[in-house]
Amino acid sequence: MENKKELRTWLDDLNLNHPLVIAGPCSAETEEQVLNIAHQLKDTDVNYYRAGIWKPRTRPGMFEGVGALGLKWLQKVKSETGLKTATEVANKAHVELALEHDIDLLWIGARSTVSPFIVQEIADALKGTDKIVLVKNPVNPDLPLWLGAIERLSSSNIKKLGVIHRGFSTYEKSKYRNNPEWQIAIELQSKFPDLPLINDPSHITGKRDMIFDVSQTALDLNFDGLMIETHNNPDSAWSDAAQQVTPEALVQIMKDLKIRKEFDPETEYNTSLNNLRAQIDVVDNQILELLGKRMKVADGIGSLKKQKNVAVLQSKRWNEILGKMVLEGEDKGLSEEFILKLFKAIHQESINHQEKIING
Ligand code: PEP
Ligand code: MN
Repeated sequence: MENKKELRTWLDDLNLNHPLVIAGPCSAETEEQVLNIAHQLKDTDVNYYRAGIWKPRTRPGMFEGVGALGLKWLQKVKSETGLKTATEVANKAHVELALEHDIDLLWIGARSTVSPFIVQEIADALKGTDKIVLVKNPVNPDLPLWLGAIERLSSSNIKKLGVIHRGFSTYEKSKYRNNPEWQIAIELQSKFPDLPLINDPSHITGKRDMIFDVSQTALDLNFDGLMIETHNNPDSAWSDAAQQVTPEALVQIMKDLKIRKEFDPETEYNTSLNNLRAQIDVVDNQILELLGKRMKVADGIGSLKKQKNVAVLQSKRWNEILGKMVLEGEDKGLSEEFILKLFKAIHQESINHQEKIING
């Protein structure tokens, strides 16, 4: 995919003085619910009204969406409130129905982005339309797969494109429902700075009281917008109850968020920033030097172990190192999560070095 400026024209054309906001319930449940929420969001910063019509659920037997009937409710939302509408499409039939009902923005869900067949089917069905299409990240942390979906749409001549970062599945329990892995969004942004990037704090956190913080982090990282699930009675929502906020809470979140500028022309600020960045560059180089040194030592250990035919992995010693580093890291204000990740990576690289020597 080329990095074309025109990718973000649709967003620039909205001429917003705030991040793009997509809000509305996880699922359309009843006509009354859909319209009630829409009317509460009418005179706010919300730009697109979202509602899931077909719901991908983890297990069968859960509420799977009201189906095409809900599209009529979204049309009513548009005519009664003027809000533009958005829904998830997961196959050709969904696309055709959404187009028939004049939905303004379509998104591809995380479970669909993983399937090139489905993405291609959707791209083919959309050929020749000028809808805005946003692609959620795949459930697994795979940037090329995410970009591949964008490429398929781009090849179908869909010009109004963007991505939604909704976090990634992990087997390990964490405080998030879907781990943000911010690095992936940052890498995508640096490769394709003109591809609008929307954050979905609802599916990242799974909990309404964490939505503000994740939204603020996204804005601090120059995201272009937010998609936040909003419900008139969140606790009794038919899907994703714990993560939905009321329209009132949404308005408060929008008010409290600090919108950061990408640049500031002021000279003193830029001088200080450049100075700090120069310091970071020096330290980064020192880190690399030290890591190189550490691996040379590991090579030495590899040679010794080879002479004596001793196994590379020494679990006891390794656990001692980890425990010590976590404690020392704490003293220096480094989180346990970071120290574990860092030292596991360093350890793996040491093992690779020793393996090379022992088997070389
Ligand atoms: C949704 O937006 O309601 C949804 C199902 O999201 P995801 O595809 O991110 O799970
Ligand atoms: Mn949801």
